[in-house]
Amino acid sequence: MSELVCRFAPSTTGLAHPGTLLAGLLAWIDARQQGARFIVRLENLDPQRCTEAFAEEMLAALDWLGLNWDAVEYQDQQLSRYEAAMDQLAQAGRLYACSCSRSEIKKIAKPALDGGLVYPGTCRDVLLTQSDWRSCSLPIRCRLEDKQMTVIDESGHDLSQNPARDMGDPILRRRDGAFAYHLVVVVDDAAQGINRIVRGRDLASSTATQLQLQSFLGYPHPVYRHHLLLLEQQQKKLAKLHGSFHWRDLSKQMSAEACIGFLMSGLLEGGCGSMSAADCLELFSWSRFADQDRLLLWDAGQMHWGADG
Ligand code: GLU
Repeated sequence: MSELVCRFAPSTTGLAHPGTLLAGLLAWIDARQQGARFIVRLENLDPQRCTEAFAEEMLAALDWLGLNWDAVEYQDQQLSRYEAAMDQLAQAGRLYACSCSRSEIKKIAKPALDGGLVYPGTCRDVLLTQSDWRSCSLPIRCRLEDKQMTVIDESGHDLSQNPARDMGDPILRRRDGAFAYHLVVVVDDAAQGINRIVRGRDLASSTATQLQLQSFLGYPHPVYRHHLLLLEQQQKKLAKLHGSFHWRDLSKQMSAEACIGFLMSGLLEGGCGSMSAADCLELFSWSRFADQDRLLLWDAGQMHWGADG
């Protein structure tokens, strides 16, 4: 049997908050319980939002939690990988330049499953060749196949969709030349031999798109499991937790064991108020872990569970 390889792939756009810590911890527990190789991949390609300091802080946060890893990779050091994949997709007749403005798209697009807009496909019939994509100064999209895909992830959630109609053709290279999430995630997962992915439910609706890209590029499909999200109140809605408080704030108030213990006592049957990452390896199982998203509050320097849970 081939070696099991897992990863945690945080974007380095800010300091790790409890949602990031939980996602890292769950990916690590899942990997280590199965004796898998565990890679930390720092997704740092957005030139406007990612900094070197955030990348180093991410590793410091994971280290504070007591996680270890077998390799660290930085996406900005892998550009030739992404270029080779773009060549392959251009050759396969999958790439096109998109000249639509945001307001043009907004006027006719329907809502996508992830809360964004489904790109209506206006530009999809004029394909780019291998030589033109490099000099293209417009966003480059991938022409997806119009095909219903049946996808059930390991947690039993039905992620079936037709990504061309339900999400729209994804941008693979942005107008500023930065390679975009859907391209780099599948290229890196394949290059690193990742065959099992544990990640937050906010990415569940991306899975069908990523499975199609893997097929276009001749890559194997990893096994996916999506887990609950920690939520915060934003205006009148609940949304995925963002960085209103972060691990540096937490580490001034509590030990890593108290932080992990807080999260696990709220989410894991049998979890208790103080737990190290190593304790989680003994106690954790997905069957005893909550499935529902949970509201997390930060008040007077303390975390509290919200009333929804
Ligand atoms: N970098 C993505 C994020 O932080 C995760 C990528 C993935 O797990 O597919 O949301």
